[in-house]
Amino acid sequence: MIINLISDTVTKPSPAMLEAMIQAEVGDDVFKEDPSVNQLQEKAARLFGKEAALFCPSGTMTNQIAIKTHTVPLDEVICDEYSHIYQYETGGYSFNAGVAINLIKGEHGKITAPQVEAAIKPLYDWLPKSKLVVLENTCNKGGGSFYTLDEIRPIHELCKAKGLRHHLDGARLFNALVETGESTLEVGTLFDSISICLSKGLGAPVGSLLIGDADFIAEARRFRKVMGGGMRQAGFLAAAGIYALDHNIDRLKIDNDRAKILGEVLQDLPFIENIRPIKTNILIFDVLAPYTAASFLEKLNSFGILASPFGPQTVRFTLHLDISEEMLARVIELLESPKNW
Ligand SMILES: *Cc1c(COP(=O)(O)O)cnc(C)c1O
Repeated sequence: MIINLISDTVTKPSPAMLEAMIQAEVGDDVFKEDPSVNQLQEKAARLFGKEAALFCPSGTMTNQIAIKTHTVPLDEVICDEYSHIYQYETGGYSFNAGVAINLIKGEHGKITAPQVEAAIKPLYDWLPKSKLVVLENTCNKGGGSFYTLDEIRPIHELCKAKGLRHHLDGARLFNALVETGESTLEVGTLFDSISICLSKGLGAPVGSLLIGDADFIAEARRFRKVMGGGMRQAGFLAAAGIYALDHNIDRLKIDNDRAKILGEVLQDLPFIENIRPIKTNILIFDVLAPYTAASFLEKLNSFGILASPFGPQTVRFTLHLDISEEMLARVIELLESPKNW
């Protein structure tokens, strides 16, 4: 039995999801004639109370298109130093949009309105122009930390007052919402644009959505095309996304709860320390010498457990819908057996 905790992106479509994909009605989406893509986009827009949405191959693309659409070259994006757009998108903000980035040292990937206010640059010829604030919810490198709407609201008010755009990298937004009980409609009122991933904990094989008002999405559509993201019979993939939104949101609570259970087990192990606060489905922790992240992962691999290195001594476990109760029990049993370590 291989137990893959590397990422919630490793999930494969369930038989029911595959059936929905096979049955999908499709057309050419570059001509806006794929009924399944149209249905998914309308559904996502409605979910967040926005006018429109755009189906893209990846969350990197939805974020990059958002940055490009909200800015012009020599503008600046303000975000936490842990942000995916800075850490894991190949420096695309500079390549695709020609913008600078202004990093804030937040707490577990979360920033505050006063920090954003202090980061906004005055208008001088020699400074980039602060234009866009990006929040990440949940924050991956922050250990799956999340913002409540009360924490986001002052940042949004500040953006409005200062004429800044506001984008949400919501790759794992639903992992946060199942904890807070807050609604997507409320989230929609606090951002100009929102990106969500269908291919993480929601279990679709491919796809992300960029959501915003009609003018923004019309422009975003042009940038999707120039990035090579205009797909033809993408409805087969959109059908998986529709299935994911209909069936796989509420169950994310299971993944979050299991992360906490696993965290309690890790807490008692003498060779593990500094477990980051466990808020959703991600666990980040350090291993102590003589272990390194590499040697610890090698040992786990020998038991059939796969996980991610997140630094020389740091490891990440991610819970997701392809981890069964039985797999979780096996991970716990292996970790708790002193003879293994
Ligand atoms: C996964 C992820 C993305 C997008 O990733 P893709 O692999 O390009 O779909 C964006 N932001 C965050 C926070 C992520 O975790």
